[in-house]
Amino acid sequence: MTCSDPDCPDELEAVVDDVSELEALACACGCTMAVVAWPDRTD
Ligand SMILES: [Zn+2]
Repeated sequence: MTCSDPDCPDELEAVVDDVSELEALACACGCTMAVVAWPDRTD
């Protein structure tokens, strides 16, 4: 995931089981995080 602010260099490695958990994640700068890729699921 990356910050939705293009001026913010922050990236976040996040593993969540439910998409609703993503809504609770936010960058330290206050912007929401944008999902750039889903991790491969093996189960
Ligand atoms: Zn940010």
